[in-house]
Order: sequence, then C-alpha cells, then structure tokens
Amino acid sequence: MTPPSVLTVAGSDSGGGAGIQADLKTMLALGVHGMSVITAVTAQNSRGVHGVWELPEEAVRAQYRAVVDDIGVRAVKTGMLATAALVETVAGLLAGTPGTPVVVDPVGVSKHGDPLLAASALESVRTRLLPLATVATPNLDEVTQLTGVVVEDEDGMRRAADAILAYGPRWALIKGGHLPGGAAEVVDLLTDGTEEHWLRAPRYDNRHTHGTGCTLASAVAAGLAKGLPVPRAVEEAKAYVTGAIAAGFALGSGIGPVDHGW
Ligand code: PLP
Repeated sequence: MTPPSVLTVAGSDSGGGAGIQADLKTMLALGVHGMSVITAVTAQNSRGVHGVWELPEEAVRAQYRAVVDDIGVRAVKTGMLATAALVETVAGLLAGTPGTPVVVDPVGVSKHGDPLLAASALESVRTRLLPLATVATPNLDEVTQLTGVVVEDEDGMRRAADAILAYGPRWALIKGGHLPGGAAEVVDLLTDGTEEHWLRAPRYDNRHTHGTGCTLASAVAAGLAKGLPVPRAVEEAKAYVTGAIAAGFALGSGIGPVDHGW
C-alpha cells in the first residue's frame, strides 16, 4: 500500500543527528514516505556546526515544485531556513499549495549555540511563515527570539502561546524542555487559543538529545499526513520523541543523537 508522503523543508546535518536526516528517519519509523527540500548544507558533528552553505532560492523552488507537481504532499514540515530570502521563498511556495497541513519548527540556534537562522530573518518568520502554520513548535529560546516573552513557569507558557498565536498559526506547541528548575518532568503546551492540552513526560537524564526538535516536528507532520487531528498527532509525536530521547546514544565526543530504532 502506498504510504502518505510527507515533505521536510530543512537543512542537512552531516552528522546525521538533526535536520533532514532526523526528519527522514522519523518518517521512516512512523510509516510515511519522507521527501526533502534541502535549504542549507551544514558541516556538523557531535561537537557543533562548523560551516553552513545556503542553497540558491532557485534550487529550493525547483526541489519543491518537482515533489509537489508529481508526487503530491500530504503534510509539510519546515525546519532550518537560514536566511530571510529562504524564509520568504518557502513561505511563497507554501502559500501556493493551501490546504496542506504545515508544521513550522522555527529553528533558531543549535544546542551548541550555533546560529541556524539569520537575525534579519526573524521578521519574515513572524509575518510570512507563522501565519501559514497548522502547528508552530517553538522551544522557549525561540519563543523569546520571536516574541520577547521570557518563560519561567507554566503561566509563562500560556503567555508564550498567546504571543505565538498572535502571528496566525492555528495551533502553538510550546516546548517546555528548556524550562529552568530541572523538574522531573518535561511539560509542553498545545493550544489553539481555545483548547489547552498539557503534555507531560518524564525528563530523562540523558545529554544525547541532538535532533529532538526536528524529530518532534516531523512526527507531528507524519501524524497529520495520516489524517490525525492535531491534538492526537501531537500526543503521538510526543510519545515518539520521548522514546527517542530515552534511547539517545553517545556518538563522537560531544552531544549524541536521539535514537529512531528504539
Ligand atoms: N542542524 C540542523 C540542520 C537543524 O535543522 C537543527 C535543528 O533543527 C539542528 C542542527 C539543531 O539541532 P539540536 O538543537 O537538536 O542540536
């Protein structure tokens, strides 16, 4: 049987832990056909990002058109978009294919602190990309970058969600993994401004979490491509990424990746 096709529009991680590579592994594990539009190539390993090369806008447009015109796309996930020009290009392409669910992971900075999005691109993410999102999945650092809201507790997560929703996504999934305090559980908030879903999972004492955000967003897109409603897709994606984090493994001398084979 032909599985639903899911497209990731994101950057390549040569170390195989995050970006396009994490997205495709997640999609394989979740039984959908993964396809990719590569926006940037990173030279990257467990120690950090050592170089970034953006692809020309024309190359991004051509990859997208090739996939959409022939194969069709049941859901899209966007990740690292690198520059304002690429954010604008991708937003233009997505606007041209309305009706397809879009999960926007507004990737800003890697776990090592390497910038994956130019500061000059933030306004395009706010005003061009977020309005097209079915679900936006910022972590707390990305919330602060995009909205100025600093989150220290669950009430702050509500304010963060409101600030993100003000840019127009249908749902905001605020990922509380970076909440200070070292609590025993990780709390995320999914809301469309009316419904509130608090998702709780145990916090694993595991430093090998490279690719967590990419994996979660791709898993949500996989669920949407299968026709799940957003809250169910997010709940299943959260369970998937929690298992992947629990099984994250050492690789190289730095931060290892989450595991897709658990
Ligand atoms: N590299 C690429 C290409 C990415 O898309 C991302 C995240 O989205 C990262 C690195 C950062 O991953 P992490 O923050 O999990 O280290």
